[in-house]
Amino acid sequence: QAKRLGRNQVSVYTRAPHDDDPQRLALETALRQASRDEQLELHYQPQVDLVQGRIVGVEALLRWQHPTLGHVAPDRFIPIAEETGLIVPIGDWVLRRAVEQAAAWQRAGLPPLRMAVNLSARQLLQQDLARRIEGLLAASGLDPRRFGVEVTESMLITNFDQAVQHLRALRALGVEVSLDDFGTGYSSLSYLRRLPVDVVKIDRSLVPDVTAPAEDVSITRAIITMAHQLQMKVLAEGVESEGQAALLAANQCDQMQGWWFSAAQSAAAVETMLREGRRVDPALLGRRSRER
Ligand code: C2E
Ligand code: MG
Ligand code: MG
Ligand code: MG
Repeated sequence: QAKRLGRNQVSVYTRAPHDDDPQRLALETALRQASRDEQLELHYQPQVDLVQGRIVGVEALLRWQHPTLGHVAPDRFIPIAEETGLIVPIGDWVLRRAVEQAAAWQRAGLPPLRMAVNLSARQLLQQDLARRIEGLLAASGLDPRRFGVEVTESMLITNFDQAVQHLRALRALGVEVSLDDFGTGYSSLSYLRRLPVDVVKIDRSLVPDVTAPAEDVSITRAIITMAHQLQMKVLAEGVESEGQAALLAANQCDQMQGWWFSAAQSAAAVETMLREGRRVDPALLGRRSRER
């Protein structure tokens, strides 16, 4: 199970700008406690390949179950963790926990898959980030090709050069770098080509359904074509229907994740899916040419 976060590590923080909001302050106090009390957990959402239909990776997603507040969504507590600096010890814990889990799956001889972890802006500002990830991978015995990180465009802005250095160093090890939530930020073509990125994750707001107007599909297709021209793979996020999956497959999208295939699950549940060889029905994916 989850290891405790070091008590001494939880004190790294700076004053937050919204200290006067009582609800926010209560959440901050609760989050500080959560890190000590093992209320945080990682769940894993499968990412499937749209040619074979197989699970090729999982994304680690934080889950917080508070004794009285119940489930608190990451979109509520991650920003607080960012502002207070709590994201540093929490992010360290996520990295350790995810690497341990992936190493355990590797040792168990499960079909190879990639474990992807969301990084935060603050983590990217740590000078030794890439070296520490390298150390974690080496210590666990996890093949770096079975590990990945997800970053967003906005995260790279504060210290672009250092962020790019980290990403380059990680890629040199074989770690896959994904650009998360693509389409929600600046997303210019000239910017994208400057980024050391292996996978573009199309934000779910840009993932059309079968009923979507043709223009929407054209935009998605343009992103896919552009990414492929930059030698990047494309993963579509938030796929909730069979129709979306089929449409993405027909438009040469490489991978997808979303509730239609599976929401984020406990490690045990993911393990069961892997052992059972769960996959998308190949008939739905249709015949696709592999060349581009
Ligand atoms: P994200 O990295 O873009 O993660 C995808 C989010 O979409 C997750 O929300 C996931 O549960 C949700 N999702 C997956 N499939 C579907 C779908 O079919 N439909 C819809 N509507 N949503 C879907 P979640 O778990 O609430 O996480 C929200 C955000 O919090 C993440 O967005 C990520 O930015 C952040 N986050 C989560 N875990 C971590 C972490 O360990 N570290 C950091 N720094 N951020 C994290
Ligand atoms: Mg992500
Ligand atoms: Mg995303
Ligand atoms: Mg996000």
